[in-house]
Amino acid sequence: MRILVTGGAGYIGSHAVRALTQAGHEPVVLDNLVYGHAEIVEQVLKVPLASGQLGDRPMLDALLRGQHPCLQGTNMEAKPIEAVIHFAAYAYVGESVSDPAKYYRNNLGDTLTLLEVMLAMAKEQEKFPIPIVFSSTCATYGPPKQIPMTEDHEQNPINPYGQSKLMVEKLLIDFASAYQLPSVIFRYFNAAGADPSADIGEDHDPETHLIPRVLDAMSGREPYLQIFGDDYPTPDGTCIRDYIHVSDLADAHVLGLERIWRLQEKEEIISKPLIYNLGNGTGYSVQQVIETAKKVTGRGLLAHVAKRRDGDPAQLVASSIKAHQELGWRPRYPDLETILAHAWAWHQKRHS
Ligand code: UDP
Repeated sequence: MRILVTGGAGYIGSHAVRALTQAGHEPVVLDNLVYGHAEIVEQVLKVPLASGQLGDRPMLDALLRGQHPCLQGTNMEAKPIEAVIHFAAYAYVGESVSDPAKYYRNNLGDTLTLLEVMLAMAKEQEKFPIPIVFSSTCATYGPPKQIPMTEDHEQNPINPYGQSKLMVEKLLIDFASAYQLPSVIFRYFNAAGADPSADIGEDHDPETHLIPRVLDAMSGREPYLQIFGDDYPTPDGTCIRDYIHVSDLADAHVLGLERIWRLQEKEEIISKPLIYNLGNGTGYSVQQVIETAKKVTGRGLLAHVAKRRDGDPAQLVASSIKAHQELGWRPRYPDLETILAHAWAWHQKRHS
């Protein structure tokens, strides 16, 4: 199948492109390259790349028709796209609080444009709209009421980033019911690790995530690690998160699309998005991540306890039973040691 992957030059998107290619699909990437890496798409993943803004209607139109210049001379030329996987979004929680307009414009407004172009195409072809897989987040839940969190947990996001993702979820609910636009919504917990080949991985600038920051402190790229609070109501006082291997996240996207296609083949009306949490169902504290990283890398690090980071809940752990049952999704790399070993292999290669 021909699949448009928005944000495919980013961390999770690039792993999804790999999973799609390995499953025999043909992805094309759209990315504004603000945080994404063109060379990963072109030289490592070796798939077509359109560089541009998600809100650019003529460009989206050309891509969905297979008429974008980046598709010239490829198998995808002049053939319509058959599904969209939508990763492109800004994802810095702190920045979303200080500059919410940027988050609502990009994450919400530009997604609406994408959906409108998909609808216009369907109308013109007198077909049902093609499916979309949307990257949502556990940040749409807000403070947890119970652990592990199931998909029916109430959603009260506490920052504009989470709010912008929740609003897109609402759009997708309304668009499924009004226009039969089929969708899968994945709520990610903490994406971590890297492809086992170590040729793609996490590389954010600025980097805010715990695991790459631990590895930065261990490799000497940073002088020390700050632990944001050790007075939480958890066994060792540090926050607990559910770390899920990025390749396992990527696999779920392929399974989500396959489920939609199966339902379409049976001519079932898909009047609601399929919604799944993606996590391992096991939580690890910041201290446990540091201890496991020491074991995996054989390195030490300097760590200072700093004040709590605003908006960090003590604990976030997913129930992913629904994805297991309905998609047959089983994480291949559920244990933290493997996740850290893959992250370390990539980190050493990228920063050597
Ligand atoms: N964290 C930390 N030091 C860092 C970065 C993160 O102590 O330099 C903590 C953070 O407070 C949270 C956990 O590590 O409890 C995971 O944070 P991350 O930013 O990786 O993901 P989040 O859970 O915020 O999506």
